[in-house]
Amino acid sequence: MIPVNQPLFSGREKEYLDQCIDQGWVSSDGPFVTRFEEEFSAYLGLKYGVAVCNGTAALEVAVAAAGIGPGDEVIMPTFTIISCALAVVRMGARPVLVDSEPETWNMDVSQVESRITGRTKAIMPVHIYGHPVDMDPVMALAEKHNLTVIEDAAEVHGALYKGKKAGSFGQVSCFSFYANKIVTSGEGGMVVTSDGAIAARARGYRNLCFKPERRFYHTELGHNFRMTNLQAAVAVAQLERIDNHIQIKRRNAAAYGQGLADIDVIKLPAEKEWARNVYWMYGIELKDEAGMDNDDLAARLQERGVGTRPFFLGMHEQPVFHRMGLFQGERYPVAERLARKGLYLPSGLALTQGQIEAVCRALHDIFARQ
Ligand SMILES: *Cc1c(COP(=O)(O)O)cnc(C)c1O
Repeated sequence: MIPVNQPLFSGREKEYLDQCIDQGWVSSDGPFVTRFEEEFSAYLGLKYGVAVCNGTAALEVAVAAAGIGPGDEVIMPTFTIISCALAVVRMGARPVLVDSEPETWNMDVSQVESRITGRTKAIMPVHIYGHPVDMDPVMALAEKHNLTVIEDAAEVHGALYKGKKAGSFGQVSCFSFYANKIVTSGEGGMVVTSDGAIAARARGYRNLCFKPERRFYHTELGHNFRMTNLQAAVAVAQLERIDNHIQIKRRNAAAYGQGLADIDVIKLPAEKEWARNVYWMYGIELKDEAGMDNDDLAARLQERGVGTRPFFLGMHEQPVFHRMGLFQGERYPVAERLARKGLYLPSGLALTQGQIEAVCRALHDIFARQ
């Protein structure tokens, strides 16, 4: 079986973990946490990093730290992970959705302005599967309407938009370091910003809203969303290898691109001229001529020993939100199509060229028999 993800630990991960154990620093009070915050924010060219226990927590902390509250609206793509919408809902605010554009699968930024109301407080662009969102129009709208931009950059460590790193555009950005991300700490996340007030609030929410000057005295409710020194040790070692990880992702995407170019019933990932795609996951979309949906293709690939994951199901199709009275009757045709026609192929950093060739053979086999 070729798994959809296999992480790669080719750096100093074990050495740094040994240091944690030897020195007894295993909780969030440890030197690797600060070091990871400093090194990762510096990588993005931003001032502050606030490490947390996962990417979902990073989104919750960022939304809270940006001051989003009851009655506010946050514009985001429907085609994303539930973490984005739940961070907004948990603050008593309302996610307002836009569809994807069909080429990069990212939010269709041309639809954002029509969704802005007097209650809109923020735009949350989510960079999908390694390809950055078209940020210039997003930033221009945010400026025009005085909105905060909260980037979800969990899938784009090191991706570039017009030469600048994804996750360095908004007032605040969120990253995940889950096991399938380009930099992993097993589980982990970070809120990154150059805004000192946002960073300070984020540190508070991460750690039970203890007051720096008076511990065990609370004026607000926070969470325990801390990252441990053990996780940060792995993350620091991974960050040292990030250029190599991106190179592997791009090399593997090129190999898939070559191997699959002649299957004309599937659409391959795009890379706009203004982007460096880091191909976090190598997604493919079935064209109508393929005559099948992604669940059918996934089953056929599974029979041939190839693991896959379906694309996101849009937020407007989630029963949990319908029960809350959200998104009733809303339709987003591109996202609906992606949810039924898209899946991603094995894309882990430890994937071998032989495995990529085997996946391409399986796809040729399936589509030759059509
Ligand atoms: C992975 C991911 C998250 C959530 O990260 P976790 O660490 O799994 O909580 C959030 N947003 C996007 C776009 C992701 O891909």
